[in-house]
Amino acid sequence: MSDYEILDERFAKLIIGHARLERLWTGSRWAEGPVYVPAARHLLWSDIPNDRLLRYVEDDGSVSVFQTPCGFHNGHTLDAQGRVIACEHGGRRISRLDPDGVWRALATQFEGKRLNSPNDVVVKSDGSIWFTDPTYGIDGYYEGAFAESEIGAAFVYRLDPETGETTAVVRDRVRPNGLAFSPDETILYVADTGETHVKDTPRAIHTYAVGADGVTLAEGRLFATCDKGFFDGFRVDWRGNIWSSSADSVRAYAPDGTLIGRIPIPELVSNVCFGGPRRNRLYITAQTSLYSIYLNTHAAGWTPA
Ligand code: MG
Repeated sequence: MSDYEILDERFAKLIIGHARLERLWTGSRWAEGPVYVPAARHLLWSDIPNDRLLRYVEDDGSVSVFQTPCGFHNGHTLDAQGRVIACEHGGRRISRLDPDGVWRALATQFEGKRLNSPNDVVVKSDGSIWFTDPTYGIDGYYEGAFAESEIGAAFVYRLDPETGETTAVVRDRVRPNGLAFSPDETILYVADTGETHVKDTPRAIHTYAVGADGVTLAEGRLFATCDKGFFDGFRVDWRGNIWSSSADSVRAYAPDGTLIGRIPIPELVSNVCFGGPRRNRLYITAQTSLYSIYLNTHAAGWTPA
């Protein structure tokens, strides 16, 4: 299997021709939610059906169980202080890992109703926490516990860091899933995996222009559609390219929406994140395994010290 499929010359500049895809570990049921913790030089990720968090240590390549049970975590990210923020299917909440080792709830409900099962999360530079809330963690007992949705819909929310209030900012998606901001935070990207529940829902990433207030979103617009499986989680590099999951590969999209290249992966890809001291190592969670590959680009938001 070739390590790359170059569809556009722009992609050739983003890869390192002799850098190979590495399978770092295997043994999960469904790997998701990777987050790189620079202070520890480790990567944490979720093995949702096994209700555990796994840890890959960059220094020696070891993998161990970070926490189990953990409450069926899915997506993770870091806040500006370097604390891990989690989406919990089991607790149906957004939580933060504080320095004392305790996960503390940040968001549990919307308008008095319990959240469905937060799936993916991103922190904006103003400290606000944006997350998606589809039903995958309450649809059955594989990735959480069955429950009827109290909200009766799946929205994208913004948690205000000052007031602690949770507001619905995107209401027009079927099952919003991965999300990320453009490097200048003028665009919010949201993946919709709603075809799992509503036939013919486009397997797509949509863009929402962020208003001058940093809060209000314009109407969603189609950015890209996926012809193999779903866009689940994705990340944005410093030049604004989108690196997304799909059934057969990591797909790279230019900011104009053009599919510029693919990195074939031998398992279903769920999510990616940038790691390494220079954030130029793409970590890839895919079904039973953790993969990585070095790129000639790095994460948005990171600048050399
Ligand atoms: Mg997801």
